[in-house]
Order: sequence, then structure tokens, then C-alpha cells
Amino acid sequence: MSEQEQTPEKKYPRLYDNCNDCEQDYDLTPENTSLHLHEVNDDCDYARMTCDHCQRPWIMFGLSEDFVLNAVRHGIDPEFRKFPDNKVLTARLGQLGITLAQQHELTPRHELLISVFEETLQNCPDDMLFDLITDENIQPYPPRWI
Ligand SMILES: [Zn+2]
Repeated sequence: MSEQEQTPEKKYPRLYDNCNDCEQDYDLTPENTSLHLHEVNDDCDYARMTCDHCQRPWIMFGLSEDFVLNAVRHGIDPEFRKFPDNKVLTARLGQLGITLAQQHELTPRHELLISVFEETLQNCPDDMLFDLITDENIQPYPPRWI
């Protein structure tokens, strides 16, 4: 029987992290760690911890079931949400190397230009628009012509 199994308080595997900043190990406890789990998209589940030595905060994604179970056994109660919020989702996508297209608000001038362009397209005869499509994979005529 190992030493860990003989002591009732330490019957679970040690739960710790190695700080990437100060490079020291520290135990994860309810005081320095929180668990955030999601009913939908559990790939965004994460632990937020603060290094005991340098106070640097860390976010860890990609939690294994064993990690979550061990954290719960060490008294860290998970916080459950149905969906990850945008900030968490963006952070997870960023960690996976996926960047989303930037979103910008349209200015009143942009909205006016778009509405004028839409009106222009509606007033163009169909054959004029479809004559410009040379790709054979695109249906060249509206259904009413067939
Ligand atoms: Zn540290």
C-alpha cells in the first residue's frame, strides 16, 4: 500500500500545477482554484487557478475526467453553466489556434451604401446579372426561367 493510501486525508492523487511563470509546483485548493463546467460544449470547461508563489493567474482548458473528479474530491466545487460565454469561447478558440473574423459595427454611411447597392441589384434585369456568371457550377438562371 502506498503512503498516499495510508493517510485518510491524502487518499486521492495530489492535485497540483507547475506554474509556467515561476516554475514552482503548487497544490490546487478551493482557495486558489475554481472549476467551470458547461453542459453544452464541454470542450470549453476550464479551471482558473492562481499560483501560490507568484500570484500569477492561469486558465487551463482541456480538463480530463480524472482531473475534474480529483478536483471535486479535493473540495473544489464546480460551477455549472449551460453554455460557455463569448469570452470563454474566444479564449478556447484562441488556444486552439482558431481566430474568428473580426466584427465591426456598420456606420450609418455603410448602411446607406449597402441599402443603395441592394436597391441597385433589385433594379438590374436578371439576364444582365446572370450573364456575368461564368462558373458552370452555379445555376445560371433563376428557377422561373426553367
Ligand atoms: Zn508562479
